[in-house]
Amino acid sequence: MPTPVTVTAFGVAYEDPVADAIARDQDGVLWAVCRGTAAGKPEYAAELHPERQKAAMEGFLCACCKKPAARDDHGMLWVLPLLGEPESWEGLRSAIPPMCEACAQTAPRMCPQLREGHVKLRVREAELVGVRGTLYPRPDRPGAPDLDALVFYDYPDLPFVVARQAVRELRHTTVVAFAAAIP
Ligand SMILES: [Zn+2]
Repeated sequence: MPTPVTVTAFGVAYEDPVADAIARDQDGVLWAVCRGTAAGKPEYAAELHPERQKAAMEGFLCACCKKPAARDDHGMLWVLPLLGEPESWEGLRSAIPPMCEACAQTAPRMCPQLREGHVKLRVREAELVGVRGTLYPRPDRPGAPDLDALVFYDYPDLPFVVARQAVRELRHTTVVAFAAAIP
């Protein structure tokens, strides 16, 4: 059961004010509440637990093991699935956190998405630009929520989103390697 929300002209909020206060970050963005635990073994799921994803993305921690991500002269290491391969890796918006060297070796065999083919990138600049999550329509605009919206921090829609993932824009990228699907 998702935590009940109310939508007013000011934005979306959890009906329970205590839950709302806990789930709001320092920028006032409301985050999805998960009943599961953020601890425990890493899971190679399509989406990381929101708390874990946010911590990894904000702190440049490895998507798999939460240790600091690898960094060298060409920037930080990102390993991304080739699904829906963009024309350019420059300016790509990623909800997948960076990785450490050890996990970059093992993750492609463990993670179903990476197993289908992946790219290794070095990224010099990766600004936090927004969040992915559920975007609720304003009260005067009836409609269904958009369950997977990308909302930038400077969008007026930001108060109407329940965020699940922090998103960084990858700039000054260098492609290190492409890997085909692992049979
Ligand atoms: Zn790692």
